Amino acid sequence: RIRPEVIPASEIGVTFADIGALDEIKESLQELVMLPLRRPDLFKGGLLKPCRGILLFGPPGTGKTMMAKAIANEAGASFINVSMSTITSKWFGEDEKNVRALFTLAAKVSPTIIFVDEVDSMLGQRTRIGEHEAMRKIKNEFMTHWDGLLTKPGERILVLAATNRPFDLDEAIIRRFERRIMVGLPSVENRELILKTLLAKEKVEDGLDYKELASMTEGYSGSDLKNLCTTAAYRPVRELIQQERLKDLERKQRAEEGQNSGEASNTV
Ligand code: ATP
Repeated sequence: RIRPEVIPASEIGVTFADIGALDEIKESLQELVMLPLRRPDLFKGGLLKPCRGILLFGPPGTGKTMMAKAIANEAGASFINVSMSTITSKWFGEDEKNVRALFTLAAKVSPTIIFVDEVDSMLGQRTRIGEHEAMRKIKNEFMTHWDGLLTKPGERILVLAATNRPFDLDEAIIRRFERRIMVGLPSVENRELILKTLLAKEKVEDGLDYKELASMTEGYSGSDLKNLCTTAAYRPVRELIQQERLKDLERKQRAEEGQNSGEASNTV
């Protein structure tokens, strides 16, 4: 059976420092994730309940996946990324058994964050017409195991999910996410912070006006800003290639001219 990929904390490679802005979200996640995963003993009394489900929602490219990886890294937790495409492409036909295996694996490598990307496609509307029977089974099995975590305060597993379509989730699923955190498009101040983070290790023009750049990029997500920086970084490379091509061309021309004048002198 093909297993979902487990990334150990030491190999995640994304930290909070790589994420520009979003400080409040970082703080909330630290509070919600760190203790249940690192100090499960604090929750054994019964009054305090560890958080088992967090939903990050908002437009594409706003850093939800990055945030999930960074918090796993900070908490020293293994990261398992599951989405409907992983389930259908690799596991289809094995349905419930595979979901069970996912939770068994998560327990084995715990503390663990199970990250469900595009949760709407995996755990979307239960009553959707034409919903495939196998999908319904996957969903129910997932919910059973997820609920099971609530009765095991010592289990260091947390489900973190992301979606661009929170309204496609039904009540039963929404309720299971004790915290729902909106990750919106960045404000002008946050765009400035994100640009500074993205370019922190790059060689940039002296006196680059980050404020102006931020005000020119209204509506850009973190991912759009990253693409903008990557495109800009390619410009000098492209120019260099162009210069090299020109030099090559000149060299060839000179060589041809030399040949022509040689041929000319031979004919004299
Ligand atoms: P989707 O909903 O499309 O899956 P997402 O919200 O999960 O998107 P990410 O995949 O985390 O977004 O972000 C895409 C890329 O954009 C990141 O790998 C990173 O390079 C960049 N990025 C997004 N937000 C930020 C940020 N706040 N700081 C630095 N980089 C960012």
